[in-house]
Amino acid sequence: MEFGWSETEQKYRAELRAFIDAEVPGWRANPVHKRVITPEEKARVVDFTHKLAERGWLTPAWPKEYGGGEQSAWQSVILSEEMWSVGEPRGSQYMSVNWIGPAIMLAGTEEQKREHLSRISRGEAFWSQGFSEPEAGSDLASLRTRAVREGGEDDGEYVVNGQKIWTSHTPSAEWLFLLVRTDPDAAKQRGISILLLPIDTPGVEVRTIPDIVGEGAFAEIFFTDVRVPASARLGPENGGWPIVRRALQFERVGAARWERAALVLDLLAERAAKEGLLAGADVARRFGEARAFVEAARWMVYRVVDERAKEIEGTATAYPARAAMVRAERLVAELGLDVFGPEALVAETFEDSTYRQALTAGIAGGSYEIQLNLIAGQILGLPRS
Ligand SMILES: Cc1cc2nc3c(=O)[nH]c(=O)nc-3n(C[C@H](O)[C@H](O)[C@H](O)COP(=O)(O)OP(=O)(O)OC[C@H]3O[C@@H](n4cnc5c(N)ncnc54)[C@H](O)[C@@H]3O)c2cc1C
Repeated sequence: MEFGWSETEQKYRAELRAFIDAEVPGWRANPVHKRVITPEEKARVVDFTHKLAERGWLTPAWPKEYGGGEQSAWQSVILSEEMWSVGEPRGSQYMSVNWIGPAIMLAGTEEQKREHLSRISRGEAFWSQGFSEPEAGSDLASLRTRAVREGGEDDGEYVVNGQKIWTSHTPSAEWLFLLVRTDPDAAKQRGISILLLPIDTPGVEVRTIPDIVGEGAFAEIFFTDVRVPASARLGPENGGWPIVRRALQFERVGAARWERAALVLDLLAERAAKEGLLAGADVARRFGEARAFVEAARWMVYRVVDERAKEIEGTATAYPARAAMVRAERLVAELGLDVFGPEALVAETFEDSTYRQALTAGIAGGSYEIQLNLIAGQILGLPRS
């Protein structure tokens, strides 16, 4: 098989790139990942995503009825590559487009679709992902935040108590995609439901926590007798897990880490060449090795996208693809530190930002080690120890 971009796809990429360079000048030359959304940054994100939506570029692959352009899955990849590599000018809205919208499309009621999808495709929705808890990260299904229903399954109310942690973008979010336990007696995957709730619901308390990628990027969220109408449940009661698994498949390869690694590698190589460092055989070998890893990751992700475009489901290709992109990003980041030494540790440089991002890459969205476990079990068929 020979892979190539169609003319429409190449035109889309070129126009998108020109648009990004006009709207966020300087980001490409210094692709620091800007994860913290301050009120000023939020206004810029809305302006940016509105403009993208006007051109039909925000949700190109979505069905027309939900504000999409019915383009191929490959256009979504181009969008993700162009955005993520320069520092994600859509802010947290990349999550809404990549997996929150598709999860609502998959399992939402007509009313939920009307309410949420049009807002996402217009570029106005800021969501946050309430999955992890202090005792439930890699083993997400053991989550304990409890929702007790009072009244009927469709017209009653849930009363939520518990805690989430590591929720990115929460200080700027308006909506929370929240996983709760609705049946504590069922097997752990079978007692989980999803609630879509406004983050300003009484009883929800957001506390930011310090972190490695930027002060205020993360929060912990506490729920005290939070009352949520049953109509805010996504999918059946206790039927949240299959929806989340599907959503996580979108998330695993949703952030184009390979493309960011490729851009950073180009910038590092440019700088190394200017400083005469590429003449050293070891440095040149390291650059070659990093490039090979980045391109391997890209092709592994493209295989996942190809399956998605052909609507092939249930394969395990996303696990090695995610493991490969984490390795590629880490290799490039370490190269930056090794070649440029202490200079690369200066805060806010793209080498520093790259290194911090690379450290978190193998944790956010499912850890690297868990991907290796999944590869061992589902692809290599190795026994559990
Ligand atoms: C940048 C970033 C953004 C995030 N954003 C969000 C968000 O928006 N919403 C949200 O809900 N969460 C978010 N998280 C949390 C993230 O999903 C969890 O950190 C992750 O799932 C790991 O869980 P944990 O931190 O509890 O670590 P643990 O699960 O306790 O794991 C600790 C270490 O042990 C290893 N480990 C655990 N179990 C196994 C095993 N069975 N075999 C081998 N090794 C194992 C892990 O790989 C890891 O290295 C974010 C995290 C980061 C870093």
